[in-house]
Amino acid sequence: MATARIGDPARWRALFGLLRQAGRARLGAFAALILLVGLLPTAVILVTGRLAAAIPAAVASGPAARQPVMVALAALIGCLVALALASNTLGQLGRVLSDAFALALHQAVARVTLGTPDVAPLEDPAVADELQAVQDAERRNVFRNAMDALSGVATTRLRGAGAFVVLLGFRWWAPLVLGLAWHLTNRVYLHATANGVTVQMTDGAVRLRRAEYLRTLAVGAPAAKEVRVFGLGGWLVPRYGDAWLDALELLWTSRKANRAITAAAALALAVSHGLVLGALGVAASRGEVGVAALLVFAQAAIATADLGLLGDPQWHLAQALALAGRVAGLRARVPVPEKPETRSTPAEARSGKVAVRLDGVRFTYRGRERPTLDGLSLEIPAGQSLAIVGENGAGKSTLIKLLCGLYEPDAGRIAVDGGLSPRQARGRIAAIFQDFVRYPLPLRENVGFGRLALMDDDAALEGALRDAGGGALLTRLEHGWDTVLSREFEGGTELSGGQWQRVALARALAAVRGGAGLLVLDEPTAALDVRAETELFERFLELTRDVTTILVSHRLSSVRHADRIVVIDGGRVAEDGTHESLMRAGGLYARMYSLQAERFASEGMADESVADEEAEAHA
Ligand code: ATP
Repeated sequence: MATARIGDPARWRALFGLLRQAGRARLGAFAALILLVGLLPTAVILVTGRLAAAIPAAVASGPAARQPVMVALAALIGCLVALALASNTLGQLGRVLSDAFALALHQAVARVTLGTPDVAPLEDPAVADELQAVQDAERRNVFRNAMDALSGVATTRLRGAGAFVVLLGFRWWAPLVLGLAWHLTNRVYLHATANGVTVQMTDGAVRLRRAEYLRTLAVGAPAAKEVRVFGLGGWLVPRYGDAWLDALELLWTSRKANRAITAAAALALAVSHGLVLGALGVAASRGEVGVAALLVFAQAAIATADLGLLGDPQWHLAQALALAGRVAGLRARVPVPEKPETRSTPAEARSGKVAVRLDGVRFTYRGRERPTLDGLSLEIPAGQSLAIVGENGAGKSTLIKLLCGLYEPDAGRIAVDGGLSPRQARGRIAAIFQDFVRYPLPLRENVGFGRLALMDDDAALEGALRDAGGGALLTRLEHGWDTVLSREFEGGTELSGGQWQRVALARALAAVRGGAGLLVLDEPTAALDVRAETELFERFLELTRDVTTILVSHRLSSVRHADRIVVIDGGRVAEDGTHESLMRAGGLYARMYSLQAERFASEGMADESVADEEAEAHA
């Protein structure tokens, strides 16, 4: 469990590790300015003492004794001007460093989220919580205040230390008594701060995440349709309120717990100040301390408050440190390879069809007891078109994700393109998934992401879009390739489900044009009707003769023209053959196919070709 102690050296190391990026010169200047702004106030106290000491002689002896007054006055003005200038520069540099800190944090988090070759670590709930906490901190502007907070805390403590040293000149015990009282008060505040930050960044973050999710359901576009259709509005709003209060409850409880100890600290302050200021008064009345010294010591006694609580800067610094520690924790939890895995088979270096071989592959999802794939073996010769079918939850998508290197098998081996692991062969594999991304970016990027090198090659992108059946789309879009595919942006447009699928397919075809030799379509066509999906798959098989293709679909009629069909059941390949041979075998495939054909026929949805084929199969 994370704590939010300001004195935690590991967090300071993490903070300075992130700040290193800002450059030594800037950090050096920042430290020098902190020293100046922190120590000049003590100089001001001492110089005012000098001034007060010189004034009586000047008044008594006339112009001849004025020089010490003028010197002290000049020193005082010099100190005050230097303090104002240094404070101003420190503030500006603090903002520059805060931006550098924010950038370093973003980069560190991006390195973690983008640096892992597979997606399994990101599915770890603990990692999701850490990432959410970083996002929350961002929303609360923790980055922006970080360096102001750091300089605020450091300069205040230096002022307090200066006052402590000055007060030693009165009585050795005086600064100790005041320092102890302030220290106690500070501990109380730190304790409360630590609790607050810890609650906010741990249990509170988890509860806030739940509340935030409910809020996005209520206000976000993705769930807007279902929320209205199912009338979820009345359910969501109170649930969001409850979840939000639930998160705040933790913070309020932690604050209440600190009340008694806060009262004790206030009492300690009152007693210590009474002691020291009382002793100073007695000493002055006995003539042991002159007016000038009285002025200096009284100022110093008051300035020891800077050894105590600091309010907002301390709170912000605690959060910045907790955040830096959190990022360090994230890095430790999600180890990112020192060197990003380089593609040993860049598309430029290899081309053509890809062969795939899976030997005894076993894979179990995190948190699951039973493996999803267990002893799955499959050999796909280069250039073959293979359909993977199976019942819901059989593991078809899991197999595809393993093939794409998004997960590592627990046992067994996957060899792609002449013995490479899927990760090494990235760039040679293109895939479009069921939940493909609808980037709210221009059409060019939506297609060009398939192969970044082709991003500016209009002819290649146009070819990919045309092959995907989206040729007409380009002519209809107002700004052509530069049209943003989201209404949330000026001049943007919204596509239909079917149009999005064509854009996603074009992305995969752009990858093929750029050198991918294995093309996987994991049900990206689910929103199309049977006839459109069948036509598209057939067109697709035609267009991708030069690559190996894997199609996943629930509609068996759509994939029956693939060279080969495998049925996944019980975590392994249960049936393997052509449509005709599998129908003849009368196994699981034949049963699923007949069931679907009957359903289409009874619902009057039958595509004639499907019905014909079905009749042929039964003949
Ligand atoms: P469908 O036809 O419904 O798309 P599928 O054959 O593609 O199903 P998979 O998506 O591979 O099946 O899922 C296989 C099993 O693994 C299911 O029981 C599913 O709940 C589980 N599963 C899938 N993804 C995850 C995940 N990220 N974490 C844990 N379990 C998962």
